[in-house]
Amino acid sequence: MIKLTVFSILFFYFNFSISQESKSEEFTQIINSNLSTEELLVFAESLSDAVSDISEVNINLSVLDAGLSESNTLRKNIGLVKGNMFFAEIVGSDIPKTFVIDNFNEHIENVFTYDGFILGDENSFFSFASNNGLVTGKIVYDFKNYTIVHDGETRQVMLQFDPKKIPFDQNDFVKMEGIPLSESEEKFLIEEKLKLIDSDSRSTTTTVKVLFLYASDTYDPAGTVSIMISEFNAALSTSGVTNKFISSAGIIPLNTTFSGQCKRTVLDSMTAASGIFSDLPQRRDAANADLIFTIINDGGVSSPDPFCRVGGVANLPANINNSNVPYAVSADSFILADNTGSHETGHVLKGYHVRDDSGTPTASRGFHNAAKGWQSMMGSYEGNCAPFTGPNSPCVRLNQFSNPSNTYNGDPIGKIGKKDFAGYLDNTSMIAASIYRNTNPPIPNIPSSLNVNQGNCFGLNGLNWTDNDINTLRYVLSYSTQSNFSNSSQIYNGWDKITSINVLTDPWYLRVKACNASGCSGWSNQVTANRISTCN
Ligand SMILES: [Zn+2]
Repeated sequence: MIKLTVFSILFFYFNFSISQESKSEEFTQIINSNLSTEELLVFAESLSDAVSDISEVNINLSVLDAGLSESNTLRKNIGLVKGNMFFAEIVGSDIPKTFVIDNFNEHIENVFTYDGFILGDENSFFSFASNNGLVTGKIVYDFKNYTIVHDGETRQVMLQFDPKKIPFDQNDFVKMEGIPLSESEEKFLIEEKLKLIDSDSRSTTTTVKVLFLYASDTYDPAGTVSIMISEFNAALSTSGVTNKFISSAGIIPLNTTFSGQCKRTVLDSMTAASGIFSDLPQRRDAANADLIFTIINDGGVSSPDPFCRVGGVANLPANINNSNVPYAVSADSFILADNTGSHETGHVLKGYHVRDDSGTPTASRGFHNAAKGWQSMMGSYEGNCAPFTGPNSPCVRLNQFSNPSNTYNGDPIGKIGKKDFAGYLDNTSMIAASIYRNTNPPIPNIPSSLNVNQGNCFGLNGLNWTDNDINTLRYVLSYSTQSNFSNSSQIYNGWDKITSINVLTDPWYLRVKACNASGCSGWSNQVTANRISTCN
């Protein structure tokens, strides 16, 4: 079952709806796009079918997944553009809201993400990720945050995040040793570094690549990561950061639940490259990643601090040009529910909390307007925004970075020359973070000694192999019912050098290769795994 730690006890079933009347309205609204009338009708019908199926079935979002996949194909085929819309109810109101699609992305292979906004709320945001039958979602509307998750049984549910239940934890980041450089000093170092890069190979866009790791018991990691990337990129765009994005450098399961460890302990292990993170710097190289983000499950842990698994933590570099441990950790349900994934990523990009106007640095700080009850992305529930203590506590975290040129309901989101993290991201830290890794690792050597161990139950077989290259990011195991590997399929994609499979037809032929950011090795030796007729 899903966890309800700091979520409202109100528990709603997600209810999409669309009416015939609104369908014609939808069509009228989207006629301004570049599509032909016929193309628009086809899209509107497919999306409507998917959405109304949900209303009728009320539980099975695999139907929505099928619908989304269909519309994804349509979108690819006909180049569907922003401005298309659908209607869905949000808990607490039976009046359907108008969801306007802004972007469609495939941040992670085979995970399709829609994001956009809801008419009537300038700060609204939604993102749905469709991941192989599982739909995870996030909605920000009218000062409230909602997540859409599967309840672990049969239903897709919408949860409302309750910030009043957030534990008061100021210390969610760890300052690294050293004195922070000024922005002008950092800019000088960036210019020096850029001189070393071939100008022909430089892109007009800046992409900071994030390698995602996840504990084995986290909730829909691929969907969650996809939505987090959409959310962060939407925040950059809304905040006035131009042509700069984050992307996935890979998403890798960890063979542990970190049972009994608080999030800070996990971050410390990453920073020290100890335990399961012993080869983390090499993994970073192999993925050609700028940042690394680990997702843990926020579930039960026996600890003196019952909240040690919620929220997030991150390393905050003193010098964005010289960040050797650009790591962050967050609990799965918080990443989206409280913008924690984007907030912690902001720390790794040298974003500071709000505090007062003094102290160094001042520019890359967040901003809050406690009287109006909101804070920017780097807001940390402090001062009059603090849970339980302030007059408007706790302040809602906007999906925007501080920028004194931008306003929310007419009030500036920053202070000129002081609180302008968007400007710092735009001019300094996104660039510095993206050029930290500017070489691609060599393609890894072929793994060897692929070995199969026949289990004693039907198709159960264990497989293991030997790594031959520190540059390996992940392994891909392929099987076929033919010894010449015609019609082969991928059955494993991860960084463990051991896995188990269930052979469905006797026999299966298997082989493995090693991959990283530059490509994949050739195939290993081939083995045969069999299925037996008994289970002992
Ligand atoms: Zn923080």
